[in-house]
Amino acid sequence: MEKISENLLKKYAQLIVRTGANVQPGQVVQLVISVEQYPFAALIIEECYRAGAKKVNVDWSYDVHSRLNFLYADEETLSAVLPWQEEKMKQAVQDLPVRIFISSEDPDAMNGVDPRKLSAVARARSTVMKPYRNAIDGRHQWVIAAYPSAKWAAKCFPDAEEEEAVRLLWDAILKTVRVREDSDPVAEWKAHTDFIEKKAAWLNQQGFTSLRYRSANGTDFSVELIPGAKWEGAGAINSENGVFYIPNMPTEEIFTSPLAGRCEGTLVAVKPLSWNSQLIENFSITFEGGRAVSCRAEKGQELLEKMIHMDEGACMLGEVALVPRESPVNQCGFLFYETLFDENACCHCALGMGFKEVLPDGDRLTMEEAQKMGINDSIIHVDFMVGADDLSIDGIRADGTAVPVFRNGTWA
Ligand code: ZN
Repeated sequence: MEKISENLLKKYAQLIVRTGANVQPGQVVQLVISVEQYPFAALIIEECYRAGAKKVNVDWSYDVHSRLNFLYADEETLSAVLPWQEEKMKQAVQDLPVRIFISSEDPDAMNGVDPRKLSAVARARSTVMKPYRNAIDGRHQWVIAAYPSAKWAAKCFPDAEEEEAVRLLWDAILKTVRVREDSDPVAEWKAHTDFIEKKAAWLNQQGFTSLRYRSANGTDFSVELIPGAKWEGAGAINSENGVFYIPNMPTEEIFTSPLAGRCEGTLVAVKPLSWNSQLIENFSITFEGGRAVSCRAEKGQELLEKMIHMDEGACMLGEVALVPRESPVNQCGFLFYETLFDENACCHCALGMGFKEVLPDGDRLTMEEAQKMGINDSIIHVDFMVGADDLSIDGIRADGTAVPVFRNGTWA
């Protein structure tokens, strides 16, 4: 099995740093990457400095360490945000570093860890961190991209030899981010983001008050939208310096946050959902008065219920997103066990936290102000796929007229 070429790796690192994060001269960069991917870290770090970064810092992660922490250390210890960790967040509010996340975790890293412990620790830590997160939200560039680890590849391709599995996952990742030996990924990303922005602009002109979803699998659902809230896709602007960046690579979605507490009906998932390293399969969620009132899963029922009850906002929607079924992620035809990819396969909704950035001047609002305008708040944000091959979505105007938005799982 042929190894991935140095040329492709460099092209990929360049794409992440220049097109994704769009690192500017004088900026501090915070790279989060697994210790196992240190050679790729070197390529990223060097590319950041070539782009003019002032300083590149690295947070080395190691999923085996995380797992052992959860198995052996107690909940109170893991939940505590230590003074130096809080200081680090305060520093980030000052420096507004560009953040580059390279995801490569073993999807099964947390198997055997009590999911209640995982939730409780996540909840405790994010409560302390939230004011700092809110303070940097919208004011820094960030990007999440992926690098295949052997364990991740083995999860996706259980029947393949290790080397072959890694190669197959590499091929899929590079296909979804449009990197080939003979491609100009920068030009392809420009065309791709232009297409997404054109569709988002069209949706914004329509001013739909609600969306109506239907498909033969039982999805029959309508959701109200927030008047004046924007549909966004592909790129984002750092409000601090006006720099355009692409938070997710790959990205295929156009999304908004719906009006919290205003949806009715049933959404049927078309793909398994991996949450806290565990699978929820063949499930549906029924909403009344904007809240998930019941759910049914062939596998992972208890986990799904736990997720919906994580906090007050966990039963309400924070996102609706449109992704055509032709998405290259969908064409790969396998579950990546990684939201970055799986949420870009087809249309989805997310339970939990919404995005205040979709409101006019949303960056400047506090989460409390955004909540009053209809944005949901929660410590969770979990995407689940509803984009059946026959999915229709109508946009409903204020006068009640219906405009076809999606037919047969793609743009009408
Ligand atoms: Zn999404």
